[in-house]
Amino acid sequence: LDPQSFSDESKAVVDFIAEYYRNIEKYPVRSKVQPGYLSEKLPDTAPFYPESLEDILKDVSESILPGLTHWQSPNFFAYFQANASTAGFIGEMLCSGFNVVGFNWISSPAATELESIVMDWMGKMLKLPSSFLFSGTGGGVLQGSTTEAVICTLAAARDKALETLGGSDNIKKLVVYTSDQTHFTVQKSAKLIGITKSNFRVITTSFSTKFALSPENLRAAIEEDIKAGLVPLYLCGTVGTTACGAVDPIKELGKIAREYKMWFHVDAAYAGSACICPEFRPYLDGVELADSISLNSQKWFLTNMDCCCMWLKQPKFLIDSLSCTSEYLRNSASESNSVIDYTDWQIAVGRRFKALKLWIVIRKHGLTNLIDHIRSDVDMAKRFEELVAEDHNFEIVVPRKFALVCFRMKPEIESDGSKLNRKLLDAVNSSGRAFMTHGVVGGTFYIRAAIGATMTEEHHVDDLWKLIKEKAQEHQDS
Ligand code: PLP
Repeated sequence: LDPQSFSDESKAVVDFIAEYYRNIEKYPVRSKVQPGYLSEKLPDTAPFYPESLEDILKDVSESILPGLTHWQSPNFFAYFQANASTAGFIGEMLCSGFNVVGFNWISSPAATELESIVMDWMGKMLKLPSSFLFSGTGGGVLQGSTTEAVICTLAAARDKALETLGGSDNIKKLVVYTSDQTHFTVQKSAKLIGITKSNFRVITTSFSTKFALSPENLRAAIEEDIKAGLVPLYLCGTVGTTACGAVDPIKELGKIAREYKMWFHVDAAYAGSACICPEFRPYLDGVELADSISLNSQKWFLTNMDCCCMWLKQPKFLIDSLSCTSEYLRNSASESNSVIDYTDWQIAVGRRFKALKLWIVIRKHGLTNLIDHIRSDVDMAKRFEELVAEDHNFEIVVPRKFALVCFRMKPEIESDGSKLNRKLLDAVNSSGRAFMTHGVVGGTFYIRAAIGATMTEEHHVDDLWKLIKEKAQEHQDS
């Protein structure tokens, strides 16, 4: 690595990316390429001789950009946003530039210590109880994804339960509880840690609870399992579900988890970020009864991929479950038990210095601008929701809580409306001018407008509504 060419070439790439952002609205938001398009453009063997950055960037423009779905476009309203920001990008550059591998404290003390400090900063911004903070009795860690957070906490819960029950054969008795709105990653994680489908409960939700998990239905399922000789293990409650932004009653669920001695995890992947605003913080009330909570700052917290914050009340259980070592990692700091070795808090051994990103995001914005960022997205979503609600051809399907609007075109005859709304969604997405995705709750198909891409402004939301109406009109005229 030659520092001068590193500097020259990196600057050229930064300028290339800046130009990409300048022109981002010119690209169709959802890629229009067909499967296999890239193998027609690229050679099928690696080059023997080195190639110039100029040639490589030309290929990025001509071959890669057409195959991108532009998540950073202000007209991206699909899934949940993946907020990039200048601060997040700078943090990512520093992380990549230093390229340290901070598996244990000695392998890069700053990586470990900054992570612990930032996790406490973040926890305090969310007003988490001190039982989740290093300055209290718990602690936080950065994972790559919610999936990893769930796998690790499930493993900790499993091992803790098996120790109590005495013997790994008892794994057949352990049951995981979720709702039909819980992200499927909990099922994937349960599979990975050895909980079979027959011990994975999916409790049905409905319009009557706005798709929140009902404590009564949960209790009934638990009682039935106990009668059958099974053992409740793990409950996942969600603040801001993926399909419709529903919020589970965290306090009531927490009480049940305590009563039945289950591990209680709060998945706040999307809406956790909003809880830095006093008006949204009540959705986390009851978190003091949880064992762990996670939030994807890569979604709504201006932190470029990837960066999932997770806090635990008793990190000991995670460490007991995940800690494994080898002679080559032995060092006096770890043996003194006075440092954190984050490798014991995660699946992989190696880890990136992700804390730099979050630290810079928080410092460059300050809590005040981070709150404004959330509020401005919520205001735009409110405005969009009003536009939809005022139009007699449309309706809101699930009342909005955050910045996700769930709506549909009213079917002319009594039906689930899926055919009509699928067509409308396809027409909008095929136009390349915006990209949204769909959801189905209680048998109703609807369109999701997830407002919150970093560059989205009010006029983009107005344009989205105009585009929807235009495509709806075309449908009615056809
Ligand atoms: N939980 C919720 C509520 C989500 O919305 C998502 C993804 O959108 C996930 C979990 C999965 O997150 P990850 O991709 O970080 O594993």
